[in-house]
Amino acid sequence: MDEITATPLLFSSLALDAKILRAIEETGYTQPTPIQAQAIPHVIAGSDLMAMAQTGTGKTAAFTLPMLQRLLPHASSSASPARHPIRALILAPTRELAIQVHANVVTYSKHVPLRTAVVYGGTDIKAQKPILMNGVEILVATPGRLLDHVESRNLQLNQVQVLILDEADRMLDMGFMPDLKRIVALLPKQRQTLLFSATFSEEIKKLAQEFLTNPVTVETARRNAAGENIKQSVCMVGHQDKFHALVEIIRSRNVKQVLVFTRTKLSAAHVAKQLERAGIPADAIHGDKTQRERIEALDAFKAGTIQALTATDVAARGLDIDQLPLVINYELPTHAEDYVHRIGRTGRAGASGEAVSLVDGDEERRLVEIEKLLNRSFPREAAIVPSGYQKPLKPAPVRGHSRAAPAEDWFSKPYEASVLAQPVEEKRIAPPSHKPQPQVAALFKLKR
Ligand code: AMP
Repeated sequence: MDEITATPLLFSSLALDAKILRAIEETGYTQPTPIQAQAIPHVIAGSDLMAMAQTGTGKTAAFTLPMLQRLLPHASSSASPARHPIRALILAPTRELAIQVHANVVTYSKHVPLRTAVVYGGTDIKAQKPILMNGVEILVATPGRLLDHVESRNLQLNQVQVLILDEADRMLDMGFMPDLKRIVALLPKQRQTLLFSATFSEEIKKLAQEFLTNPVTVETARRNAAGENIKQSVCMVGHQDKFHALVEIIRSRNVKQVLVFTRTKLSAAHVAKQLERAGIPADAIHGDKTQRERIEALDAFKAGTIQALTATDVAARGLDIDQLPLVINYELPTHAEDYVHRIGRTGRAGASGEAVSLVDGDEERRLVEIEKLLNRSFPREAAIVPSGYQKPLKPAPVRGHSRAAPAEDWFSKPYEASVLAQPVEEKRIAPPSHKPQPQVAALFKLKR
């Protein structure tokens, strides 16, 4: 990442213990990212912190490394659960992010005798109990499941010294504020609180006022700026041709992995199924899948067994896939800020990436919102749809018949795509307030 190379610091200059430095070295990082360089000294010094960091900037290590440093005096190899109270609590909005953060904590703490665990919903709560009863110093949790454990008296939070709110903006979006308030009320008043968010909205500032004390603010990227190492493009396409355009993009890029975003669970499932039929191994992750199914799909994607993973915004939070070359927005998100999160799945840690958005006439308004947020405009390119699959705007009359040709004539081989119905959105539905413009479709008639 440009940002990484622009930081001349070394990890060894950051007052981190040799055991932590060894783990960093083994991970292969050479230099701290800007968010790490800025945040780590303040956290080690004990300040509360409000950090604005986009996904992919190295934010997890930015809070985990100094948190480990602060907990070092309590590291203990004792078997007694009493010697391992929860001292650091990391809250994350989704199970995927919680799992990801926990994996990072495990990596960075491997030479330090501090115990860590992760708890999230959608899995058997009983299985998580013995791990907690055994004692852990660092707990990563989604808010709802944490409260379930509190109610079941599986854990105590009265010795927490460090509270970390990861992707706080998303936690608010997902309606976790009441849960957060309940959790914070259970923590000691005297503690360190770190808040990480991709954006600093008014709500986030209010949350910071409520939960943080004299925080230091660090900000590494331009407000809502999307990664500059990501090539972004917009392809206009009629709704009926979207799927064919998607297949064409995947085939033409010849990439091993592509993450395809949809707005709805239904659409994620449907597109994955259609891709499979088109000969592109695919699976979907969305809120209706069990945790196990989601993990299996993600593992298959990471291992390269499936080429395409379709996902909704909520399900994709926290996904960290090394070297993901391509993200496609099959449908633009309802919230412009989600565009930044989506494309941030590619181009991570300095790698270059590509993000293509397929936009139909009904989505123009969403595109304009994204452009406003990013303060840039995208040239509207015409999507390439293999000519055999273009659906005529007006059905061609069948010789000798006055009625239109049946739809199957336009949509049969080889993808067997069917028109994807506009399904109901998964969350936070905001129906477009503008009227679709039928004549816009004519502009998307595609040439090869
Ligand atoms: P995050 O923003 O925490 O999700 O991190 C994004 C990616 O950057 C992850 O794959 C990390 O392993 C990687 N990463 C974190 N810190 C560094 C670093 N200092 N140098 C190179 N890669 C890093």
